[in-house]
Formats: sequence, C-alpha cells, structure tokens
Amino acid sequence: MSGDLSYEALLERAYKLLPPRRIRRERLEVEPPEVVTVGKRTFITNFKRICDTLNRDPRLVLRFLLKELGASGNIEGDAAVIYGVAARKIVKDLIDVFVKNYVNCPVCGSPDTILIREERKLMQLRCTACGATTPVKPF
Ligand SMILES: [Zn+2]
Repeated sequence: MSGDLSYEALLERAYKLLPPRRIRRERLEVEPPEVVTVGKRTFITNFKRICDTLNRDPRLVLRFLLKELGASGNIEGDAAVIYGVAARKIVKDLIDVFVKNYVNCPVCGSPDTILIREERKLMQLRCTACGATTPVKPF
C-alpha cells in the first residue's frame, strides 16, 4: 500500500522523478492574463502560454484558480474557462499568488522549481537551482 510509505521514502521517490534539465532563470516574465467574459463564463485566452511560462500543468493551475474562486471550470484548447464571472484583476492577482506560493523558491527566489504532489496531503516545492525542498499548502 502506498499509504504505508514513509515520508522519507516519498521524498526519495519524488527526487528520482526529477527531470535532469537545469535551466537557470532569475525571474519569470509572466504575461498578463487575457480575460474575456461571455455571459456567465470567463475565458482566460492565453492560459496555456502562461502555464508554459510557469512550467506548470494548466489543469493544476486551473484547479488552484477554481478553488480560490469557488467556481468550476475547464480547459478548452489553449484557454481556461471559468463557469462564473471573474474580473481580470482577480485572475491576475490569483496567478500572482500562485507564482509566489507554488513557483518561486522561497529560499533563493528562483522560478526553476517543480511542484511535487505525492499524495493529497503532501505537496512540496523542489528547487532545481538551490536544491531546497519546501512544503507548501496543498490545494
Ligand atoms: Zn531555490
């Protein structure tokens, strides 16, 4: 049972899953979200590009946004769709929060990090620049 694995074993397994790539960047240039509201749906039309910059799975980033907004939504092509009305400023602020908490390393500030989720209750940010592993609040 995977539930019997120790914390150390999980860390070890997570470490082995790290890709070998090491590209150093000082900080991210994240383009502002393009937000279009149609009826009661909000589209973030450049969502995939933003997630590519963050090096995060769009489904994961959307899950964070939806949880914060208390809404449901989906990925449609390169866009994210939120089933509800969300102002551009709110979307931008939430993406900023995501970058601060789930992309930038709190130790060295590098955005070259990987978000590791082994189980529902265990989420960590591993930095490929300084090697720090920081527990983060799961979502
Ligand atoms: Zn770091």
